[in-house]
Amino acid sequence: MLISMNAISDAMTDALRFAGTVSGGVNASYIPYLASVPSDLLGLAVVTVDGQVASMGDADYRFAIESISKVFTLCNVIDQIGADGVQQKVGADPTGLPFNSVIALELHGGKPLSPLVNAGAIATASLVEGETPDRRWNAILNTQSRFAGRAIPLSDEVNQSEQTTNFHNRAIAWLLYSAGACYSDPMEAVDIYTRQCSTLVSAVDLATMGACLANGGVNPVTQERVLAEKHVQPVLAEMMMEGLYTSSGDFAYQVGLPGKSGVGGGLLAVAPGRLAVAAFSPPLDEAGNSVRGVAAVSHFARALGLSVFAHR
Ligand code: GLN
Repeated sequence: MLISMNAISDAMTDALRFAGTVSGGVNASYIPYLASVPSDLLGLAVVTVDGQVASMGDADYRFAIESISKVFTLCNVIDQIGADGVQQKVGADPTGLPFNSVIALELHGGKPLSPLVNAGAIATASLVEGETPDRRWNAILNTQSRFAGRAIPLSDEVNQSEQTTNFHNRAIAWLLYSAGACYSDPMEAVDIYTRQCSTLVSAVDLATMGACLANGGVNPVTQERVLAEKHVQPVLAEMMMEGLYTSSGDFAYQVGLPGKSGVGGGLLAVAPGRLAVAAFSPPLDEAGNSVRGVAAVSHFARALGLSVFAHR
């Protein structure tokens, strides 16, 4: 059942007002660029499956997509090797550990389990098909752009900031490689993964990207099919299980929507058949999720009864 734009707009206003009263969290600082983004920015955007767009606050501010990119590289690879292929080569289970955990890898014989944690995302990036590293990178960037309905840019500044500090991710890639779970040169996989995290999106872009998943794999604004319909469900299932890392269970329990966060302060949630909602606010909680983003999206989803577990 579609929700009226008036109801959406009222719920957004309330959610943003509520999130504005919530404090706490700090910008990510292990990537120097992210520490420099103004902490008081707060934006909210919704895109419906019939292509309507609503935005409030700093919804047009462009920020680093970071881990939300993992969803779209997964979409790229799942269309290439299928859901079973991803499950076999990367895994499809939550890790219960932080997004950059080495222990999670060690506990499972080097298998990353989820494409939505760093190890699994690096493994997923290593599976993207293409004859050269440039072509593989362009395939990823092209997927982000098709989901967003506009050419998504790589930020040289963010990329530089990440490439010169991503030693932990490089260690993860070598561990993956030693376990046979990295399917290209490991440093090339990290390079591509780091770039995919360094593109700039707005909350409106993210909501549009999510709306493609809400709409069975068709971008509701451009009408382009961006993902095979049969692959939407496994992608959303993975978001529900691991999208907010160690808080994924809490988010499922309290909100009941597949979501994905990034350390740039973005948060995306998808209400299948209805809409996608995206928030942006840089300060993060200890799990790496935007404090005000979670507050805004939770408030919005609960006000409209969007949980996928609701019987109507
Ligand atoms: N680029 C970041 C990293 O690899 C992304 C992490 C995130 O957003 N959770 O650590």
